[in-house]
Amino acid sequence: AELYGVQNWSSGFFRVNEKGQVEVTPAPGVSAVLKDVVDELVERGESLPIILRFPQVLAGRVKQLNEAFRTAIREYGYGGSYQGVFPIKVNQRRMVVETIAEAGFEYAHGLEAGSKAELALCLAQNMHSEALLCCNGFKDDGFIKLALWGRALGKNVVVTLEKFSELERVLKVSRELGVRPAIGVRFKLHARGSGQWEESGGDAAKFGLNASELLQVVERLRQEDMLDTLVMLHTHIGSQITDIRRIKIAVREATQVYSDLVDEGVGLKYLNVGGGLGVDYDGSKTTFYASMNYTMHEYASDVVYSVQEVCKQNGVREPTIVSESGRALTAHHAVLIVPVIDVTGPTRGSQFIPEPAEDQHQVVKDLEEILANINLRNYREMYNDAVGDKETLHNLFDLGYLTLRDRARGEAIFNAILQKLAKLVSGLPYVPDELEDLPKVLADKYICNFSLFQSLPDNWAIQALFPITPIDRLSERPTRQATLVDITCDSDGKIEKFIDLRDVKATLPLHDVDGSSAYYLGFFLMGAYQDVLGSAHNLFGKVSEAHVLARPGGKHDIELFVRGQKARRIIESMGYEEPMLRDSIGEQADRAEAIGELDPGDKSELLEDYDEELLGYTYLEYEE
Ligand code: PLP
Repeated sequence: AELYGVQNWSSGFFRVNEKGQVEVTPAPGVSAVLKDVVDELVERGESLPIILRFPQVLAGRVKQLNEAFRTAIREYGYGGSYQGVFPIKVNQRRMVVETIAEAGFEYAHGLEAGSKAELALCLAQNMHSEALLCCNGFKDDGFIKLALWGRALGKNVVVTLEKFSELERVLKVSRELGVRPAIGVRFKLHARGSGQWEESGGDAAKFGLNASELLQVVERLRQEDMLDTLVMLHTHIGSQITDIRRIKIAVREATQVYSDLVDEGVGLKYLNVGGGLGVDYDGSKTTFYASMNYTMHEYASDVVYSVQEVCKQNGVREPTIVSESGRALTAHHAVLIVPVIDVTGPTRGSQFIPEPAEDQHQVVKDLEEILANINLRNYREMYNDAVGDKETLHNLFDLGYLTLRDRARGEAIFNAILQKLAKLVSGLPYVPDELEDLPKVLADKYICNFSLFQSLPDNWAIQALFPITPIDRLSERPTRQATLVDITCDSDGKIEKFIDLRDVKATLPLHDVDGSSAYYLGFFLMGAYQDVLGSAHNLFGKVSEAHVLARPGGKHDIELFVRGQKARRIIESMGYEEPMLRDSIGEQADRAEAIGELDPGDKSELLEDYDEELLGYTYLEYEE
């Protein structure tokens, strides 16, 4: 079980039980076995892949974050409070937003909207009256109107200026509506983040006002006698900040700006430090991009301490600290369960080697020679020779000097060499540097019933790493090394990088599968950004979802099952209409019947089968 490092990356929300099965452990005394949940769903006739969502995990993260800040505030005797907001762009799913709003009610945890549609959604949520509703992103009149109507409804809506010209727009709409705004200003810190989103901060950042624009906002509001409406200073240096020092530097800079604004006579109430609180996807606790060198408690503690220190130095009142943590709240709550449907690879099973031709080409003979003679003393040269010979084999074939039979025999012998090599090196403590690629070359390809583009878009787009483990058989030592491929017709639909404590691994250790029982992989920490960024490449649609509650004694309740997108829905989203498709097939079937190509019985069966697929799941459906 340690092979997969569950205890390193799970933040205590998952563990491996004594039977070698992964359990979700959202709170003390309750747990659920993932395999049991999947078995129940399969028994009910549901198809995989399926996303398992755990509302208790989400609620647990909301509590952890708020308690971390409360603890830090108590410890340091900080004079202000903490009020988080959840940026819904990270995951707008109803279950996610409602669970966070509910769990966050006692902490007055609010929401952040970055567009009109997101704001419309946020305004309809039941939130604590003091909970913030921050409006970020570029705005038009309609966006600002909606935000101001939110204030009229009694909600604590703050309109954040992302650029200087938005101020006049806010003033105009506010005059028209007769509703006084609460204004925030996003400030461009010169401090930058660390990790993949470094560019979000710094002088060249897309959003935010610079120092002189900020002062112009203050002057303009003073002119209008509306300085009291400027309530929040907002900063954001990027998501997944890997290094805590960057956060401290940015928070200190933000607090300096806050202090100076207070000195200018602005009664700012909130200091918003943005997102960036990371998730330790590989569990290495380092500044590697898939990790972070701090805990949630250290984050809260360092933010509170840094704000307090700068406020003390400057003799200003300590503000309410706001953070817009999204990734850290949502990543843990979702697990994608994917069945392995087949395994291929150069070393799988017996390989058929075609008989030699009478005048066999020398390059094939060379490969035969290598196969006969490769051993532990010479395998480095022999392997390199074999790779060279295979390349020659293909070049000669392209030029017409080799027959298809020669090529087939040459390739099969090459694979036999790999099989022999795999056996030879399996006993070695390490693979030599010059054969670095070997594990990948020798690896099996586990074909998995999912679409990388729909379910793990960040793995494809920005090489994000997610922990992947079998959800069962973890007390058995895995005997295979694998890479994963999805079922899209896209050669990018594969995973060849896996988490590791020291480095990134080229293969994932997996158990042998012989098809006698289902083998499921869990893709963990999927709850942030993946659900909303996924795309329908090859028309693989939204995945089915189960909302699962863990109970005492390892029991569970499936609270809700939402079936994944049907084929017709995803076809319709491309501009087609279902009746049009049916009519076209119907007419073609009539014509085929008229000319005697199709008898009436077959015709109705054809139409039924077509209908069934239109109404079916877009993923492969095998008997589990
Ligand atoms: N706030 C703003 C302005 C953002 O752009 C983002 C995302 O990048 C977030 C908050 C959420 O950040 P995170 O998911 O790192 O908490």
